[in-house]
Order: sequence, then structure tokens, then C-alpha cells
Amino acid sequence: MDILMLGTGSAWAKNYYNNNALLFANEFTLMIDCGITAPAALHALGKPIDEIDALLVTHIHGDHVGGLEEIAFRMRFEFRKKPILFVPAKLLEPLWEHTLKGGLQQWEHETLEDFFQVKPLEEGKALELHPGLRVELIRTEHIPGKISYSLLVNDSFFYSSDMQFAPELVTRMVREKGCTVFHDCQLKPPGIVHAALDELLTLPEDVQERIYLMHYPDNKDEFVGRTGKMQFVEQHRRYRF
Ligand SMILES: [Zn+2]
Ligand SMILES: [Zn+2]
Repeated sequence: MDILMLGTGSAWAKNYYNNNALLFANEFTLMIDCGITAPAALHALGKPIDEIDALLVTHIHGDHVGGLEEIAFRMRFEFRKKPILFVPAKLLEPLWEHTLKGGLQQWEHETLEDFFQVKPLEEGKALELHPGLRVELIRTEHIPGKISYSLLVNDSFFYSSDMQFAPELVTRMVREKGCTVFHDCQLKPPGIVHAALDELLTLPEDVQERIYLMHYPDNKDEFVGRTGKMQFVEQHRRYRF
């Protein structure tokens, strides 16, 4: 499995695109989250939109779903394609009713299914999205009361999406499953709705060694060398795990 971050920026970063990813497995391309800047990031990479086979949504924030309207319209009218959209079952209604319907619905009775092959995902159940690509949704805390998920990919790669510091979970992923971890990180405390760097630095060194930091602000370079055994994910670099 290869992963390439379309962007590694925090929600309002301007030097980095939104924290969205492309996963590649057996000729299948899955986009994890599709924020406001995702179409521009694809354009900057020279990656045509119609090479995306499927998209997956972790939670409803602009930097994770704000680009779906453009992708939906262009897939339908420019490329005549209906990509797969994996959505946590509990997010289906809010994603359409409160996020996308106002922009996408042109005729009465049009639904999300007119734009995407919608596949609801249940939390805690690993599902083979494509041969060689198994994903399990893990409910993790982000904004209090807001439904948000992290991802366990192929039982060996943990992608935090946006989450508060959860040391037991991350340690278990590394020590019990041998996971590599892509973790969101707020560089200046307090983290509150993200893990803060000073919190992540309290993790044991053997766990830190497996962690790559993402979802960082524009001044990330000031923190290079100050992240313990953890390293930053570089935007637009392809990693293989
Ligand atoms: Zn975010
Ligand atoms: Zn968020």
C-alpha cells in the first residue's frame, strides 16, 4: 500500500493543502477526505480527478469534505463517472442534509446517490474496500459530541484523521499490531481537539519511532528537530508501507 498526502496542513493552513490523502493499492486509488483545497492539490500534482476510484469521509469539517461538491459535479458532468463514496453510516444524513444538498441538489428528489455509489461503513468492522485494501473505522474523539473516525488500514497502518490525544490507542496500534501511524498534530498547546505535540512527546520512544506527524500549521519548519523520535509527513511525497 502506498500513501501520498494531497496536503498536510491544519484546517486553516495556507502554505499546505488540507490534510487529505491518496491511498494506492492494486491499481485502486482511494482518496481519504476531500477538503476545500483537494481539487487544487490534485491539479498541482497533475493528477486527473477521474483517476480517483473512491473517496472516504472521516468526519464533517470543511478541510475534510469541503471539496466534495466540485468532485461530484465534475465527475458527473465532465467525466460521466459515479465514483464510490464510503461514508460512516452515522455521517450519511448530516453529510447530505447539512453539507452537500444545498450545492448539489438541482432537481427535487436528487440525492447523494445521483452523484456517488454510496457505500455506508459501520464502525469497528474491517471491510475490504478493494482486494488488498481493508479498512476499519475506529471512532475517536475530536470535537466533543461530533462523530469522527480514525482508520486502521490493512491491520498495519493507523491514520488518525483528526483526534484528541489517545495514548492507549496509539500505543496499542504500534505495540500490538506493529502499525505505522500518521497522526494529526497541533504544534502549539493546548491541543483540545487535536493531539498537541507536547502530549505526543510523552509517548514512549518505541511508539514515537512509528509516528509521522501531519495536519500541521504553516510554521511547521520551526519545529523540525523538536519532535522527539517522530518525523513530519511531507506533502506530495509517496510513502510505501
Ligand atoms: Zn482537519
Ligand atoms: Zn476536524
